[in-house]
Amino acid sequence: MSLNTQIAIAAFLGIGMGVLAQLGWIPSPETLGFIAKILGVVFTSGLKLVLMPLIFFTLASSILHLRQHRHGMRRVWQWTLGYFGVSVIIAAITGLCFVHLFKPGVGVHLNWLTATGPTIVQMDPQKVSLDFIKNALQNPVAALANQNVFAIVVFAIVVGVGLLKLGKKTEYAAQLLEEWAQLMHWCVQVMMRVAPLGVFGLLYQLAATQNMALFQQVGLFIVVVFGGTLWHGFINTPFILWILTRKNPYKVLWQAQQPLITAFSTASSSATLPVTMETVQTKLGVDPSIGAFVTSLGATVNMDGTALYEAMAALFVANLLGVHLSLIQQVVVVIVSCLASIGAPGIPSAGMVTMMMVLQAVGLPGEAVAILLPIDRLLDTVRTMVNVEGDIVGAVIVQSKCED
Ligand code: ASP
Repeated sequence: MSLNTQIAIAAFLGIGMGVLAQLGWIPSPETLGFIAKILGVVFTSGLKLVLMPLIFFTLASSILHLRQHRHGMRRVWQWTLGYFGVSVIIAAITGLCFVHLFKPGVGVHLNWLTATGPTIVQMDPQKVSLDFIKNALQNPVAALANQNVFAIVVFAIVVGVGLLKLGKKTEYAAQLLEEWAQLMHWCVQVMMRVAPLGVFGLLYQLAATQNMALFQQVGLFIVVVFGGTLWHGFINTPFILWILTRKNPYKVLWQAQQPLITAFSTASSSATLPVTMETVQTKLGVDPSIGAFVTSLGATVNMDGTALYEAMAALFVANLLGVHLSLIQQVVVVIVSCLASIGAPGIPSAGMVTMMMVLQAVGLPGEAVAILLPIDRLLDTVRTMVNVEGDIVGAVIVQSKCED
């Protein structure tokens, strides 16, 4: 049985058994819950184990290889950033349209707003931008220790460009990077052997521990978020891919099921990155240098699902409060949601933190995040999946536009 099939079966089993545990139809759910926890931790920790060295070695060496392309690095940069920019704006606008169409939050009573969740600290936009810069330029040793993916991406780009400029003088350093990159790819392949067990464990826990009563209150919002995110993932993004490459987008998505299911179950684009990188190279035929470049940059800055969700959530909160947002305010929501998604690290619930920026940009109370927090782990599944899909599709597009 192929690994893809094993992962897909594990995902269904995990969700199915989790639901049965919720219903009390499973004997000793505590023991199974504990085993599921261990399986989930082994898988996610294994991915994180290789994540930082993988990004550094693969990205730095991929920059070296980019020079071999006829159109060179410039074209790769242009297509990568162009695609990231356009797709994220489309995502945020899709989010707004879905809320306007289905109007979640209208008529829902807010009496539990103040009672739920922790109080969230207010966010100052200036502080957020300064923190963003400090985060991006953190020293590499601290970044490695803190699993700061964005800083390692920046450092790897600097090192890669440096090696390119120095040419023959740093020949051995370049070779060493490449050998390490190969070693890291081997480690990822080893990690993937436990993926089915990990996916089962993570999804079992997710399905078994959700608070069902809450879902009834914000049920429509959950359904609309799922609908909007899946619309972007299965209609908008495939359409962009088809327009730009004339490839069959659904075939591409089918081949990308390993990273998509991993993203769904881990809720982390960064943790999924080793699988994403491996898939674009081995299954989708993307040149390793382009694949590593687009997916590692994308895992930290390209988050369509997050932008879509943040735009949706801001309008949902406005609906709950009975506040009408003007057209200009909605444009602000779209812009700030895109920026917030760029600033969000690829870890579970990161979007919740940057969400504060969006709410505050249009004068909505930041405390409203408390409504969204309890359902966030669930919503994070599809939005992370769509975030990762965006990186994969980006790699395929850049490859086809920059092929020699
Ligand atoms: N969990 C998302 C990701 O890793 C980020 C978010 O919370 O929106 O891509």
